[in-house]
Amino acid sequence: MQKIGYLLFLMCFWLNMNAQHHHCGTLDHKTKWLTQFQQRLEKGLVQKNLNEPLNIPMTIHLVGSDDGRGYLSIATLLDALCTLNEDFEQWNIQFFMQDILYVANERWNNHATFAIGREMVDANSIPNTMNIFFVSNAAGACGYANINSYYSVVSKNCTGKGDHTWAHEIGHALSLNHTFYGWEAIGDIDSINYNFNEPAPEFIRYRGNNILVERMDGTNCREAADGFCDTQPDYLFNRWACNNDTRSRQLQKDPTGVSFNSDGSLIMSYAFDACQNRFSEEQALAMRANLIEQKDGLGRQAMPFGRIEQSTILPLSPLDSGLVNAENGFLEWEAVPNATHYIVQVSRLPTFPIFDVNQMVEGNSIALPNLQLGRRYFWRVRPFNYYSSCAPASPRFTFIATASTSTKDLNLSEGIQITPNLIGTGETIYIRFAQPRQEKVVVRLLDVNGKMLDSKQYNAAYDLEHHIQVNGTGLYLLQIIVGKEQVVKKIVIQ
Ligand SMILES: [Zn+2]
Repeated sequence: MQKIGYLLFLMCFWLNMNAQHHHCGTLDHKTKWLTQFQQRLEKGLVQKNLNEPLNIPMTIHLVGSDDGRGYLSIATLLDALCTLNEDFEQWNIQFFMQDILYVANERWNNHATFAIGREMVDANSIPNTMNIFFVSNAAGACGYANINSYYSVVSKNCTGKGDHTWAHEIGHALSLNHTFYGWEAIGDIDSINYNFNEPAPEFIRYRGNNILVERMDGTNCREAADGFCDTQPDYLFNRWACNNDTRSRQLQKDPTGVSFNSDGSLIMSYAFDACQNRFSEEQALAMRANLIEQKDGLGRQAMPFGRIEQSTILPLSPLDSGLVNAENGFLEWEAVPNATHYIVQVSRLPTFPIFDVNQMVEGNSIALPNLQLGRRYFWRVRPFNYYSSCAPASPRFTFIATASTSTKDLNLSEGIQITPNLIGTGETIYIRFAQPRQEKVVVRLLDVNGKMLDSKQYNAAYDLEHHIQVNGTGLYLLQIIVGKEQVVKKIVIQ
């Protein structure tokens, strides 16, 4: 008996906790502008021009503790940006980071009230960009925004690949309401005891207004709830799980007694992240109009970054399993088209639980700190730019820290001449060394993924005639290894 009593106590406690937790802290209200936009939509006065790309600049504010710790990691930021852009891609709205700013302020990082949050937003916002604040505590919610504003605040715990909180809060900032608009009031006062088996009321009193409850037959969709006719009725004010069709398990009854399940694919609902993946067309039209009419055409600019289509990383120095100087060592890899930055991670363990290097660099090389002599290290590289952030980290490569390489690979590179670099298969290329050496030379032909296609050894680093045999044309890499040094040159086979 005692055990059951304790369990009941625990359950009540858990339900209470759940009731108090607001997934989204936005104080939902419908703006006059959105009401008027929806009236124009109803009269057919809105041009459905979805083809013009809108590319929205953002200022990213990474908020941490007073001593500059606990910032959202760049890798997680990139994962989250990838999901954000996937969420908006269907409607030709894309986001890029104009700047990433670090804010060391524990009061803002861990704010329990909207007033402190507002102080943070006012002190840091950069005009003519969307300002996104990543904090540890977003006033107890996963995130919040002001309806029709230039900012969103998102909790780091609700940020990452497949989490749609960021998109949801941007939706609010671009004027959208929840699909269950009005029902937040029930969530505030009666979230545990509300009986969904009864037909819903005609109106719900929310923040001083009577909000019309949306019917299944669509007769009041323009005035009721969120005011969009392509988002169906939804009364679910707590977070909810969906079935395989992304519909709610919870059955609801509209004011006329018609039963329905909510659509969890909509990002402005409270369905779990695994259900969500889209905005409706009318929601997209409203957000686009909001950018143009309310935000001075924000986003009407060319995207300053290209999309990273290929994410294969090819190590150049050293090649995989090569040697690196323990002091003044460096890593270099083949540049990825359109990538402006890379995250480089070096670890002593193959699973990367801790890092010797975990750094964002511009350009395709990095100088390493002093390494432990004779030790094997693992490394990987993730290419990105401030817009295109979906590429994963490369497979892991290895190197051994050594003292023995006297010359850097780059010197060797300058001392080797290859002619011609545009050749036909079966033809001969000439490899000339500026400083001939009595050392064994290995010449390998690699495809652009680093796969070895051919290998041949020579006895001295002196004028070589090397035959190229390969099936297929295109870009290839010639790896020339002299003793412990190596260089990789591009050649085109036609
Ligand atoms: Zn919300």
